[in-house]
Amino acid sequence: MAQDPDCIFCKIVAGELPSLVVAEDDRTIAFLDVNPATPGHTVVIPKDHHRDLLTIDDDVLAATTATARRVAALLSDRLDAVGVNLLNNCGAQAWQTVFHFHLHVVPRYASDPLTLPWVPAPGDRDEITATHATLTA
Ligand code: AMP
Ligand code: ZN
Repeated sequence: MAQDPDCIFCKIVAGELPSLVVAEDDRTIAFLDVNPATPGHTVVIPKDHHRDLLTIDDDVLAATTATARRVAALLSDRLDAVGVNLLNNCGAQAWQTVFHFHLHVVPRYASDPLTLPWVPAPGDRDEITATHATLTA
């Protein structure tokens, strides 16, 4: 199994750091976040070390996503969550702080304080078209 000795999530996989595991299979593990955005906020990781979304193998990503969906169902069922946010931060600018790929599964409750991190507003049509041209050139 590919591990990084300096990675805190690899240490959780190895049992060298404590964690509160809520789901596990041969390739993935899910444990409660120590800084929960809401009660039940869970981090789902592959047991192998992959730095981020851009470097993880497709099959490992699929396995991690499948576990995240199982966790979403668990949180909805046991904690009576009325919604779930699935979040991945890729890169320091995008709020990634632990560089071992993970999905945040954040259960949502009717009265929780979370808000969208951006204010939706119509974009500039020409700018969107130019971005599309760049992406499809
Ligand atoms: P990110 O900012 O997307 O890289 O998320 C990393 C997450 O891991 C944060 O929400 C941290 O609260 C969480 N975290 C860091 N160390 C631990 C730990 N030892 N056990 C559980 N969660 C952790
Ligand atoms: Zn790691």
